Amino acid sequence: MKILVINAGSSSLKYQFMESEGGEVFAKGLCERIGIDGRLTHKVPGRENVVMDIPMPTHNEAIQAVLDIMVDPEKGVIASTDEIAAVGHRVLHGGAAFTESCIIDDACIDAIKKCIPLGPLHNPANLMGIEACQKIMPKTPQVAVFDTAFHMTMPPKAYIYAIPYEYYEKDDVRRYGFHGTSHRYVSARAIDMLGSPEHSRVISCHLGNGSSLAAVVDGKVVDTSMGLGPLAGFPMGTRSGDIDATILEYLMGRYGYDIKEMLNILNKKSGVLGISGVSSDFRDIEAAADEGNERAKLALEKFEYEVKKFIGAYASAMGGVDAILFTAGVGENSAEMRARICKGLEYMGVKLDEEKNKVRGKEAVISADDSKVKIFVIPTNEELMIAMDTAALCGK
Ligand code: ADP
Repeated sequence: MKILVINAGSSSLKYQFMESEGGEVFAKGLCERIGIDGRLTHKVPGRENVVMDIPMPTHNEAIQAVLDIMVDPEKGVIASTDEIAAVGHRVLHGGAAFTESCIIDDACIDAIKKCIPLGPLHNPANLMGIEACQKIMPKTPQVAVFDTAFHMTMPPKAYIYAIPYEYYEKDDVRRYGFHGTSHRYVSARAIDMLGSPEHSRVISCHLGNGSSLAAVVDGKVVDTSMGLGPLAGFPMGTRSGDIDATILEYLMGRYGYDIKEMLNILNKKSGVLGISGVSSDFRDIEAAADEGNERAKLALEKFEYEVKKFIGAYASAMGGVDAILFTAGVGENSAEMRARICKGLEYMGVKLDEEKNKVRGKEAVISADDSKVKIFVIPTNEELMIAMDTAALCGK
């Protein structure tokens, strides 16, 4: 089925028009500066990119611009929007209500709205994308695919926080986890690559700008590093990961920050950017470290150390591990970071093959032949997963 995949942010909207079987991408692009002025970048494989300034006061005009360019006789790829069989939307927070993707109807929209307090930055933007599509293409079925859904198999001991239980019961405070669509796609591939054993224990390392790990037993998540929100876990490009809450009180008292300013520091100015002072991009930090920058070296060391600790924790949680997989920007491309993370894990049967590790951005086995734990590089494809879910639900 030909599916339009939409990832709507507050002022941007990414789209990909693709075949759900096999994943061929016909066109993809980005609407930016929605609500400010508006710019569309449209890419069709084998053709020159198109960049156009188009007024986009709201997401409605952005979706209209996407549909217009898709049917444009010169720049487009389809004769009519009727060729779009369905639309799949990425939605950040599905709370505990959504354990899988769902067809968008009034009940689904109400449930996404109920999750706004849990995902205050993303869910309202995701809803704007959904509502724009409903308005502009009312006859086309739509599906919501949640970043949290794959993690909903976690047992209570993994998702409960050790704070008064009433906050869980009354206020839904618990670990939810994110990057679920990515972890689902890559962990399923890892299980295939293991030869689809009856029993499998996989650690999925999604290392990008935002990063998280998931422990996956027999295809089901048993623990993950992000929490109620995406700030938790280990250091990321600009996010701190887990920190002692006392630091908040201390710094807010010392500098008079309010909670918004404090969270902005933890979300946007921390992580490897905060430690290195160089960049949030691992390529820049690796280059600075090579030139002898001590803080850049420390940032890489900290990242590697914390990921390694999570791997050890998840191996314990699962009673062992059959495969570790690396995905997303850093995981797919940085042979150096993969090697650093695997070094020192030989005690648990992890043995990297330095030669095989020289791969970039494509699926590969990078463990040594005699490694007890298989190590994989598996490029993630969240859009394909969204397209597949959308086709499965709309084909019914
Ligand atoms: P997002 O979390 O925004 O989806 P990505 O998964 O695309 O991000 O990851 C982006 C990050 O991947 C960049 O910030 C950069 O740090 C890292 N990256 C990309 N290519 C390389 C590379 N060759 N070496 C090291 N890091 C890389």
